[in-house]
Amino acid sequence: MYLPPFEINILGTSSAIPAFDRFPTAQLIHINGSYVLIDCGEGTQMQLRKYKLPAARIDVVLISHLHGDHIFGLPGLLTSLSLLQREKELLIIAPKELEEIIKLIIKHCEAKIVYPLKFIYTQTKEVKCVFENKKFKVYSFPLIHRVPTTGFVILEQERERNIIKEKIKEYNIPIHQFNRLKKGLDAEDEEGNVIRNEDVTIPPLPPRKYVYCSDTAVLKDIPEIVLNPDVLYHETTFLKEHQNLAEITQHSTTIDAAMTAKKISAKKLLIGHYSSRYENLEPLLIEARSIFENTVLAREGLRVKI
Ligand SMILES: [Zn+2]
Ligand SMILES: [Zn+2]
Repeated sequence: MYLPPFEINILGTSSAIPAFDRFPTAQLIHINGSYVLIDCGEGTQMQLRKYKLPAARIDVVLISHLHGDHIFGLPGLLTSLSLLQREKELLIIAPKELEEIIKLIIKHCEAKIVYPLKFIYTQTKEVKCVFENKKFKVYSFPLIHRVPTTGFVILEQERERNIIKEKIKEYNIPIHQFNRLKKGLDAEDEEGNVIRNEDVTIPPLPPRKYVYCSDTAVLKDIPEIVLNPDVLYHETTFLKEHQNLAEITQHSTTIDAAMTAKKISAKKLLIGHYSSRYENLEPLLIEARSIFENTVLAREGLRVKI
């Protein structure tokens, strides 16, 4: 069965201070022809170029919170898109204050944004659908961090039913009846005989789901929308031995992330946002895998297909 692309491109995996060869947090999600940038740490536009990803095609930018390691790349990216004569609107879904920050930078740097920039504000009280098109929906949900922070869920829209190829001939299904069948309705052949939907179609695969948990302490109340993702990205700033630091800074350890993956029945766990105190990341992977086997270490340039 054909599955349209749903891919996570990792651009940055570092927490606060970029260290070793790691960049601060950013990910580009390609979902069936749409491009969603999640967080935009310093150097994001350089990373997009390096991995030959289409910055010009970004439709939506999701910002989890206003810490610098998640937004300092945004002014540069926005002004570059302007210099490249972008025309289509760019939607930024972020905490309210980001609009003021961006507008102030544009004003005092005497930069120009030649394309429409639209802001939708996030909030940390409840789960909310913040974006929807024909292919997918985006939900924000509250995380626990030192400043207001949200995670995001990217959920495919329900796909249509699939017509079984062999049945087209067998039932003489007219082409103009295909749409009815795909929508789950019964159809008719040229003689007016009813073709029952369940006899000639199969249900689509369930919509795929990506859950993004940027900076957060351990989540206690997990909203339903977060359950059963195909991939959970969860920050793992610290190893278990630095749990005290995680608590002070409201971050997570490898164990916290792996426990959450287990709790929400994720199929795969992607970890990232590593502290600059770790040059070797293997111990983080080993620790997470001790709880949740299907864990993958996010690294710059990694592409995860859902
Ligand atoms: Zn961060
Ligand atoms: Zn943060």
